Amino acid sequence: MKKVLQNFSDKATLAAVFMLLLILMAPAVSYAATDVIDTRTPEKPVKSAESAATKGTREVFKTADGVYQFTIDTTQAPEMTDWTRKKLVPIITEWYPKLVQLLPSKGFEAPKSIVFNCKKPDKQGAAPAWAGGAGVTLNANWFMKNLKGEAGGATVHEMVHLVQHYGDARKNNPHATKNPGWLVEGIADYVRWYLYEPQSHGADIGPKRASKVNYDGSYRVTANFLNWVSLKYDRPLVLKLNAACRQGLYTEDLWKKYTGRTLQELNEEWKADLANQPAK
Ligand SMILES: [Zn+2]
Repeated sequence: MKKVLQNFSDKATLAAVFMLLLILMAPAVSYAATDVIDTRTPEKPVKSAESAATKGTREVFKTADGVYQFTIDTTQAPEMTDWTRKKLVPIITEWYPKLVQLLPSKGFEAPKSIVFNCKKPDKQGAAPAWAGGAGVTLNANWFMKNLKGEAGGATVHEMVHLVQHYGDARKNNPHATKNPGWLVEGIADYVRWYLYEPQSHGADIGPKRASKVNYDGSYRVTANFLNWVSLKYDRPLVLKLNAACRQGLYTEDLWKKYTGRTLQELNEEWKADLANQPAK
C-alpha cells in the first residue's frame, strides 16, 4: 500500500507541476451563459438588465472546456447581480477548472455542477461565505461591502472547499483519520493568497508578529506556513497534503516524511525566518 501511494504521489507530483505550467501559460478562458431562469417565473426567463437588477436571476454557465457547469442565483439578493455577472462569472470560469487541476488525487472527480447562492442571512455576524457539498453560499450583506476588495478572493477560498471534498474520506475509507481544521482552512487560504492573488500579499507576516503565530493559526497564518514549507522543503507539499486529507490518510508524520522535519521543528524554523526578515 505504501509503495502504491509513493508511486502515485510521485506521478501526481509530476502531473501537478506539468499542469501548473500549463495553467500559468494558458490565456484566460472565455465563458458562455447557457441558460437564464427566474425561479419564480420559469416560463418567462429574466433577460433584461433592468429586470435582473430588481428581481435577481438564476443563471447557468459552462466553463470553456465544457466540463463544468455552475449556477449563480441572485434571486434572494438582486443587488449582487451586476457584480456576479461582470466579475464572479469570469473568476469561476477560469479558476474552478484550475483548482481541480491543482488539487488532484487518485480516482477523484470534482463536482461537475456547482451552485453559488447569494443570500442575506437574518442573523448578524454571519460568515461572509460558506461551502457545503457542491454549493457555496455568499452572504450578500458582507459581499456588497467588499465588492472592490475581498469578494473575489473569498469566493476562490470557498471554491477550494468544493474541490477539497474531504467528506469523501469517510465514505471511501472506514479508517479515515480526522483532518485538522487549521489545515483545511490553511490550504484554502494558501491557494487563495499565494496562487490566486499573490500580488495582494494578504497572508504576509511581518517580523514583529513572528513570536505570536504558530503553524496551526489557520487561514492566512497556516497559508503562510504552507507557503514557507513548500518553498523551502517540498514544492508540491500542498498537493500531497490535500490528497492525503481527501483519502483520510493525513497524520502528523507526513510532515517528517515530506520534509525530513517534524511539524514542531518546521514551526520553530519558520518563526525564526519570519523574525529575521527585514522590516518593511
Ligand atoms: Zn473556509
